[in-house]
Amino acid sequence: GFADESGVGLTAAVLGLTRGSTTDSQPPTGFHNEPDTDPSLPANRAWGRRILSRVETSTLGLDAIRDARVSDPAELDRLIEGAAASGAAWGQRSGAERAAVLHRAGLALAANRDRLIEVMAAETGKTIAEGDPEVSEAIDFAHYYAERARDLDAVQGAIFVPSKLTVVTPPWNFPVAISAGGVLAALAAGSGVVVKPAKLAQRSGAVMVEALWEAGVPRDLLVLVDLADRELGTRLISHPAVDRVILTGGYETAQLFRSFREDLPLLAETSGKNAIIVTPSADLDLAAADVVKSAFGHAGQKCSAASLVILVGSVAKSERFLSQLTDAATSLRVGRPADPVTQMGPLIEPAEGKLLHALTTLGVGEQWLVEPQQLDESGALWSPGIRTGVLPGSYFHLTEFFGPVLGVMHARTLAEAIRFQNAVDYGLTSGLHSLDPAELAEWLDTIEAGNLYVNRGITGAIVQRQPFGGWKRSAVGPGTKAGGPNYLYGFGSWVSEPGRN
Ligand code: GLU
Repeated sequence: GFADESGVGLTAAVLGLTRGSTTDSQPPTGFHNEPDTDPSLPANRAWGRRILSRVETSTLGLDAIRDARVSDPAELDRLIEGAAASGAAWGQRSGAERAAVLHRAGLALAANRDRLIEVMAAETGKTIAEGDPEVSEAIDFAHYYAERARDLDAVQGAIFVPSKLTVVTPPWNFPVAISAGGVLAALAAGSGVVVKPAKLAQRSGAVMVEALWEAGVPRDLLVLVDLADRELGTRLISHPAVDRVILTGGYETAQLFRSFREDLPLLAETSGKNAIIVTPSADLDLAAADVVKSAFGHAGQKCSAASLVILVGSVAKSERFLSQLTDAATSLRVGRPADPVTQMGPLIEPAEGKLLHALTTLGVGEQWLVEPQQLDESGALWSPGIRTGVLPGSYFHLTEFFGPVLGVMHARTLAEAIRFQNAVDYGLTSGLHSLDPAELAEWLDTIEAGNLYVNRGITGAIVQRQPFGGWKRSAVGPGTKAGGPNYLYGFGSWVSEPGRN
C-alpha cells in the first residue's frame, strides 16, 4: 500500500480529497505543501488500481521523446540559441508575471498526477507509494518557486539578473520531482531551459515537461532534448550560451562536466553515504521502522537513502531492535510495480559492479542479518539485505552502493558514531534517533551533512520544511538548497540598482 513518506505532510484524507474527480482550476497564490494521496479512502485505492492496470502497457511520453531526439550538432546549436533568446526575453518579465505561469504549471502537474505515477512505474519500477509523494514534491516546487520569483522583485537596492540559459540534467531516480525542481527554479528565476532527462527515465521527464507546456510555458523557452550521442552531450554542456548547469548525479559525473569546460557554472547535488545513528535513549521501535523505510524505499536508489545504521552502546546488544529490523526488512513485499501489494520494486537495471558486489559479498568481520536474494532471472529484482559487523574504514563503510543493502556498525559512544559518519567523503543526509536533548545538541554541533533529520526517516525532504542540499562531496558549486528560500539565487546574479547603492 502507499505510505506517508513525510510523516509531517497533510494527507488528502485530512482535506477530504479523493483523486480522479474534479480538480482546482484557479491558480492559487501563496504556498502550502500539496497533500499526498491517502489510500485509506476507497476511491483513492480504486484510482491507484486503475493506474497500476495501465503500467505494463503504458506508452506515455514515447511520442514526446521521439520528437525531442536531436542527432545533428547544428540543430542542437539552433535549439540552444533559441532557448537563450527566449530566456533573455522571459527574464525581462516581472517576477509576478513569471509566478502566474509557475502557479499554472503546478496545477497542470496536479492534474497529471496519475499519468506521472504511471510513467514512473512503467519506466523506473517506482511504486505508487514512492511516486505519489514525488508528484506532490514537483507540484510544491512550482508553487514555492512562484512565490520566490515574486520575492526577487521585492529586494530593495539590488536587481536580480537571471541566467539566460540553464541546462538541467536530472537523475533517473527522481525523474519527475528533480527534473521539475531544476526546470521550475530556472523558469522562476527568469532563465530559458534546455532539459535533458536521464536516459533510463526519459519518458517520465517528458510527461512532466508536457504538463508544463500545457500550462503555457512556451516550447522554445523550455526545450526538451534526447541527445543521440555523448558528443552532443559534451557540446550542450560546453556551449558558450549556457550560463548555468544543474546536475543531480554521481560525484564523478560532476567532475566529468567540469572537465568539458573549466569555468562551468555548475550547481550539482551528487552522491551520498548516509547513516542513521541510534542511541540507547531512542524509541527503538520507531527507529527500526524509520531505518527500514530509509534504507529500502525505492530499493535504496536514493542519494538520501540510509546505507548505514550506527548503533550506540547497548543498542548493539538489543535483541528487540535487531529482530524488529529483521522482521521489518523481511516482511517487505518485493515485486513488480504493477502489482498492488508490492512495497519494494525492482532496481532500474540488473545489479552489477559495486552494487552486485555489495549484494553478494561480505567484508572482513561482516555477517548477514538478512541475506539478499536475487528473485528473478533479469537480476534487477532483489530482496533487501542487512549486514552486521561493518568495520570503521572498511569498503562498505565508505562506499556508495545505491541499492537495497544496509550495513550495521557499532559505536561505543555517540561521539564515536558521529566520527564514523563524518569519516565518509560525502555529507548529504544524516539521521539521529534519540530522546535526549544533550545528545541532539552534540550531534547538531558536529555532524557533517546538509540535511539532518531527528526521530524521522532520512529520505523524502519536503519543500520549504526541509530545503535539500549537500556538503562535502555531496555538492559541487555554490550550495543553496533546493526547495529553500535562496535557491533561485543560484540562477543569476545581483547587481546594484542604479542610483541606490
Ligand atoms: N530529495 C530526495 C529525498 O529527500 C533525494 C534526492 C536524491 O536522491 O537525489 O529523498
